Amino acid sequence: MPELPEVQTIVATLHPKLSGQPIGRVRLMRQDILHPPGADLAALLRDRVFTEISRRGKKIILSLDDGRRFYIHLGMTGRLTLEPAAAPLLPHTHLILELPQGQELRFRDPRRFGGIWWLGNDQPADIGLGPEPLDLTAPQLAARLARTRRPVKSALLDQALLAGLGNIYADEALFAAKIHPLKPASKLSEAEIRLLTRQIKNVLNRALKHKGSTLRDYRNADGQPGGFQKLHRVYDRAGQPCHNCRAPVVRLVISGRSAHFCPKCQPKPR
Ligand SMILES: [Zn+2]
Repeated sequence: MPELPEVQTIVATLHPKLSGQPIGRVRLMRQDILHPPGADLAALLRDRVFTEISRRGKKIILSLDDGRRFYIHLGMTGRLTLEPAAAPLLPHTHLILELPQGQELRFRDPRRFGGIWWLGNDQPADIGLGPEPLDLTAPQLAARLARTRRPVKSALLDQALLAGLGNIYADEALFAAKIHPLKPASKLSEAEIRLLTRQIKNVLNRALKHKGSTLRDYRNADGQPGGFQKLHRVYDRAGQPCHNCRAPVVRLVISGRSAHFCPKCQPKPR
C-alpha cells in the first residue's frame, strides 16, 4: 500500500507537470469509486485548470482554478499516472482526464480500496487525520500515544493519530527505535518516544530519497518503481537474518495486519 513516501513521490512528479494544465474530456468508468455518490465529476472538472497537486497524509489533493479541490486515495493497489493518450489502456482504469499535448491522467485501481473524493471549496482535506509525521514533535507523539493502550504498531497505523504511516514505515521505524511492536502505546518511555519520533522522520526521509518502496503494485506518476525496498531492515524479511544481530526476523499478525521485527533488537515488553 502506498504510504507517505510513495504518495509524496507521485505528488512531486505530478505537481510541475499538471499545474497550469487545462482539463479536457473527463471519462469516469465506474461511478462507485466517486464520493459523494452522484457527484457530476465531468461537469465539475470540464474546462477547469489544475493549479496545485499536494499531499495530506496519504491523500493526493488536486486543486483547481475555481478554488475547488478533490482528492485521490490510492488504497492498496491504486496508481495515478500521466501517460500518452496512445498508451494501451490497462484493465481497472477507472478515470481518465484528457490533458493538452496528447497526455492523459489515469487512475487505475484493481482492488478498489482507493477512490476519488470531491471536496469542493469548503470541505477541509484533513478531516480525520492526525499530524504529519515529518513535522511531528516528541511531545506531540507522547500526548497521542498516552491516550491508547493499543500495541504501538497498531497506534502508528491509525491515520487519526498520525497521518501517512502504513505497515512498511511503521515496522521500519519501530525496528530503528528498538521498540517491540506489541508494546502498549501508553507504556513507551520518554526516551523511547524521542527516539521513535526521530526514527520515523529518518526512515521517511530516506525512503523519500529513494522515491519510495515497490513491493508489488506501487509506481510513481511516470510509471517508475521506487528503490527503498532494497533497504528495508525488517519489512517483508520474515525468516531472513537481522542486519544488526543475525537473528531471524519474525512476522506477527497484530489486529489483522502483519508486523515484522527482530526479537533480539526489539525485546519483548515486560
Ligand atoms: Zn536484530
